[in-house]
Amino acid sequence: MTHMHVAGSVHADVAAAAPQWLSVPTDVNALDPALWSSTVRRRPDGALEVGGIDVRTLVDEVGTPVYVIDEQDFRQRARAFRSAFAGWDVYYAGKAFLTRTIAGWVHEEGLFLDVCTEGELRVALEGGFDPARIGMHGNNKSRRELEMALRSGVGRIIVDSLDEIDRIEELCRRHEVRARVMVRVTPGVEAHTHEYIATAHEDQKFGFSITNGAAMVAMVRCHASPVIDLLGIHSHIGSQIFDTGGFEVAARRTMKLLSQFQQATGIVLSELDLGGGFGIAYTSQDSPSSPEDLATDLRDIVETEARAHQMPAPHVSLEPGRAIVGPAGMAVYEVGTVKPVDLDGGAQRVYVSVDGGMSDNIRPALYGAEYSATLANRTSAEVGALCRVVGKHCEGGDILVRDEYLPADIHPGDLIAVPASGAYSRSMASNYNHVPRPPVVAVDQAQWTTLLRRETLDDLVGLDQGQVVGTIPQ
Ligand SMILES: *Cc1c(COP(=O)(O)O)cnc(C)c1O
Repeated sequence: MTHMHVAGSVHADVAAAAPQWLSVPTDVNALDPALWSSTVRRRPDGALEVGGIDVRTLVDEVGTPVYVIDEQDFRQRARAFRSAFAGWDVYYAGKAFLTRTIAGWVHEEGLFLDVCTEGELRVALEGGFDPARIGMHGNNKSRRELEMALRSGVGRIIVDSLDEIDRIEELCRRHEVRARVMVRVTPGVEAHTHEYIATAHEDQKFGFSITNGAAMVAMVRCHASPVIDLLGIHSHIGSQIFDTGGFEVAARRTMKLLSQFQQATGIVLSELDLGGGFGIAYTSQDSPSSPEDLATDLRDIVETEARAHQMPAPHVSLEPGRAIVGPAGMAVYEVGTVKPVDLDGGAQRVYVSVDGGMSDNIRPALYGAEYSATLANRTSAEVGALCRVVGKHCEGGDILVRDEYLPADIHPGDLIAVPASGAYSRSMASNYNHVPRPPVVAVDQAQWTTLLRRETLDDLVGLDQGQVVGTIPQ
């Protein structure tokens, strides 16, 4: 045995080093169904299986790290949003994770699609997505991006500045097309996990402020334009939100704005987009609402506000990203080193280093995001040791899972799976430390397909146009 056995670290003090929400598991091999995609289970031999495929088989084929998307789970979540919000439109927020195949699934499940760059738009169009069902976002869309959106005939452009409105008008005239536009407004609500603050959050780059009148100015400007069709307004209040209170405030303020616009111009705008941001479970401390419960709350809020302003209820759209692809994905890493570290008070924390890190999932470093993990290639009869799963990068903050109990006999060569990794991980990946980005595979009914192949060192080094000084010693 070359590795250290860490079972001795498990004693009462460990609980003091763990966060309060994390309890010592009675069975360290158990999977919390709230965290894992619907087809994940342990095989009789203890290894994890997803979409009918043993993760060890996948890893033999494509290596680690690897991101795995459970197609059935993705489709079920897309369908659940569509049926809960029947009569309204659901846009999948492509920035969470988008490939041509994913665009195809979104299309097949009857959802619309949001993109916010030329790159995302190109992937969507190449995936065969109907441009009329695409919304184009972005606070600084280039002329080229707007041109591509207008010429491909996207269903709507969500405008975010007066400069952009100028640019759209100029391009519409040049190409003799019209633009269908929503005005992005900031309703003065910034929602956070478990809380929201309904004041003074207009100090940000997105949108036109409702309170200082900028939103009304932009709406009147669009309405007056001979080449723009103003459809309505758009608000997005944040991400990983568990409480509909923030949406309630946003709906109240946006409905009031629609009513004021109607009084000022006589025009009834029919479209209201309430954005995305619906939370998911990353750890046992998160308890997200179902799409059904969200739909009941949001319909109630919109109808109440419409009655209060004596206006027809607008046609509403929503933009979930994370809530569809997040829980459908997991990351699988191989353990490289296991290092117990003594903490004040006699407790120990076990640093488990894996072959990925902040380059494939920046969220813990960027937002302090919490994740969970489990031993994926086998089960263990050992008790849980308090672990921190860290990456291979040259940063102390290169953490993937801050706190988790993993079996005390975890050792190099083991596989670790991190659930709820489908959103904003591979899509935000970097090449920090010249580490190639991991592949993404989709699994379904015991078949797997590659959505994104692994980046190679040749891909990366091929970008370097500098001098080649010598040859690599063999
Ligand atoms: C990011 C974003 C979304 C999606 O947010 P999720 O948290 O993934 O649901 C929707 N709309 C807009 C405008 C966004 O910027």
